[in-house]
Amino acid sequence: MQKIKLKKGDAVKVLTGKDAGKTGKILKVIGKENKIVVEKLNLIKKHQRPDARGKGGIVEKEAPLETSNVMFVCNKCNVGVRIGYKILDDGKKVRLCKKCGEILDA
Ligand SMILES: [Zn+2]
Repeated sequence: MQKIKLKKGDAVKVLTGKDAGKTGKILKVIGKENKIVVEKLNLIKKHQRPDARGKGGIVEKEAPLETSNVMFVCNKCNVGVRIGYKILDDGKKVRLCKKCGEILDA
């Protein structure tokens, strides 16, 4: 299984499905399932039982997306790009945009 290069807070663009072409911020990375949850994307309607205050009904919730169905969006390029890795002089491994070379991790 390939390692997920995406991290919480990254901007991604959805490639397939009903939200294709939309971008959003990653809320959660589910490493062992190769999935991510993106803010306000891939929403599903969930029926919720009324709580103690009587609130319930249908709520919208983000469903996980396959990481293969999204692409990282580079701040600088402003398009979906591939993520590469680079080892810095101090030995730290950082992610970089394969298109413009911008380092993605501070
Ligand atoms: Zn870039």
